[in-house]
Amino acid sequence: MSDDNLGPPPLHPDAVIRYNETWKVAICRTCKIGVHGNALRGHLTQGNHSYRKADWAPILKALDGRPQPMSKADFPRPPHNTPPIPDLQIWDGFACNLCEYVITSQEVMHLRHRKAHPDVPRGSKTFYRPVKVQVKSIAYEYPS
Ligand SMILES: [Zn+2]
Ligand SMILES: [Zn+2]
Repeated sequence: MSDDNLGPPPLHPDAVIRYNETWKVAICRTCKIGVHGNALRGHLTQGNHSYRKADWAPILKALDGRPQPMSKADFPRPPHNTPPIPDLQIWDGFACNLCEYVITSQEVMHLRHRKAHPDVPRGSKTFYRPVKVQVKSIAYEYPS
């Protein structure tokens, strides 16, 4: 038996990507967002990061075979009041009082989401409340 069979190599503790064992998702510590499996390589080679293969290849290798979302739709949706997930940015946002909907844009909450609740009077500002949220791929409210 060789050690090679034990699984993927561990992520370097200083790597920009951290794997969250609780929610089974890779998180970029610099951008403070969740990154799904099919977006990882692009994330590390473009935009905020322009890593060379020597830098991104070990990260992809370490994550290979671990359970993780492979599209935006697959991201975990932790229940409200889940403790903040390390390395994810905390945003000022809004939570609907009538359902679980959470978003950072008051305009979207006020104008667009109101349509989800036809009984709410037009212009009502009382059906949602300000909350601290972790969104951008992983969305939920956490206790402030
Ligand atoms: Zn990043
Ligand atoms: Zn709602």
